[in-house]
Amino acid sequence: SASQLGFIGLGNMGASMATNLAKAGHQVRVFDVSRAAIDAVVAGSEGRASVASSANEVVPGASAVVTMLPSSKEVTQIYSGSDGLLAASKGNGTLFIDSTTGEPGVCEKIAEEAQQAGAVYIDAPVSGGVVAAKNAQLTFMCGGPKSAFDIAAPLLAAMGKKSIHCGDKVGSGEAAKICNNMLLAVSMLGTCEAMALGKHLGLNPNNLAEVLNASSGRCWSSEVYNPVPGVVPGVPSSRDYDGGFLCALMLKDLRLAQAAAAQNQVSTVMGGLACQIYSLMCAHGLAAKDFSVFYKFLQDQQNK
Ligand code: NAD
Repeated sequence: SASQLGFIGLGNMGASMATNLAKAGHQVRVFDVSRAAIDAVVAGSEGRASVASSANEVVPGASAVVTMLPSSKEVTQIYSGSDGLLAASKGNGTLFIDSTTGEPGVCEKIAEEAQQAGAVYIDAPVSGGVVAAKNAQLTFMCGGPKSAFDIAAPLLAAMGKKSIHCGDKVGSGEAAKICNNMLLAVSMLGTCEAMALGKHLGLNPNNLAEVLNASSGRCWSSEVYNPVPGVVPGVPSSRDYDGGFLCALMLKDLRLAQAAAAQNQVSTVMGGLACQIYSLMCAHGLAAKDFSVFYKFLQDQQNK
């Protein structure tokens, strides 16, 4: 059934997510620090999204509020304290669904604060990227009480194809997201290396990709998002690595994984190496390129 909702953070991902909630019939009050981002969502919402002039203004009357911010830093700024979202909910039991990729520990802290303020906060980061956001095909990984997950699930269904409850502990969704992206980085870097070696052995990249994708080396990076230009049409490698999932964001996620590993004294050797490689690429001016650009980086080093 249709609800009154709030949505904060209308960037590459959030704009499409808020629009899909409105298209599903919900009334959505939206806020972003960018007025242009607000106006674009309101214009594309079939009259069901309306302008809020501050973050807190989305809260009154909303049964649930979704946030999709860059990182934990902005999440803490917006939620916490006497002038934050949690206080603005005035003990009305508002459900806050945070889809930002952030730190599990920060989510836990905010969930405690929410409880004290008479609100509920769960984490629900996403996988899928901007195309999946636009087409309501995201995967949500959620942490928090099952009862809160069950209330969130129909709203998440308007923005995604699958929602998975990762644990009763708030932050469990972020934990799963960090593991997924660490594996994605490792498999992408490995795919780039294999494709580059194959090229130097005289193999045709299309032919090698066909072999990998019919063999045990197959992965999302080789099959759906191949890093060699021309192998898969329409992915960032085929448009000089522009758009997509930026090296800077992958580095942020790998650092979250490394911090979580250090806090829990877990060895993540490949994750650590991947973190160093993305750090190096960002330092070489590739921060705003897609994360599959390691293939080009390797070629450029080879040709020096
Ligand atoms: P983005 O930078 O495009 O969007 C963030 C939005 O938040 C911007 O519009 C910004 O103006 C707004 N914002 C920042 N501070 C604010 C504040 N204090 N109050 C209100 N609005 C504020 O980022 P994105 O690509 O949409 O990603 C959002 C989150 O989703 C990140 O944590 C990212 O890691 C994660 N994510 C991104 C992708 C992807 O492919 N882009 C995929 C999965 C997950």
